[in-house]
Parts: sequence; C-alpha cells; structure tokens
Amino acid sequence: MIDEPIAWTKEYLEANKPPLKSLDEHNRDARHRYRLATAPHGNGIACPECGEELMDSDGMILTVIPPKKNVHCPACGYRGYRIA
Ligand SMILES: [Zn+2]
Repeated sequence: MIDEPIAWTKEYLEANKPPLKSLDEHNRDARHRYRLATAPHGNGIACPECGEELMDSDGMILTVIPPKKNVHCPACGYRGYRIA
C-alpha cells in the first residue's frame, strides 16, 4: 500500500511539530555530544617520531593564529600541536 504524499503545509508542520525539550534534556544531550566530540580520536596524521597515527588529545582549540589543537601519539608518547 502506498502512503499518500505529505502536503508540507504550514498547518501540517504546526500539527506535527515535535514537543519542546526541557532545559535539562537539552543540556544532557549537549553534554553527550560534547563528550563524543572531545574524546581522543585518531586524526590521520603520522607521528613525527614513530610514524603511527597521532590523536587529537581533547576538544580544546588553542586561540592563537592560526588556531592549534593538542595532539599526542599513544605509541611513543610524543606530544605536540597541529593547526586546527
Ligand atoms: Zn609516535
């Protein structure tokens, strides 16, 4: 059975508007996204010391020109910066 096409009218959108989140729900979701975005992760750059993949260490962006990010190598312990 084929569903009727949706008429994207103002009335349809208003009737199907998602419920508003509470501030606590928003903050919980935002904290979760922030944790995922700032967890250490590989960045595709080779370590200058050993050649293994460097990782972005955290979510910090150092406010210099150009902006930089902390990087580290889990294989050899190298620590440094990359341009963000
Ligand atoms: Zn290394």
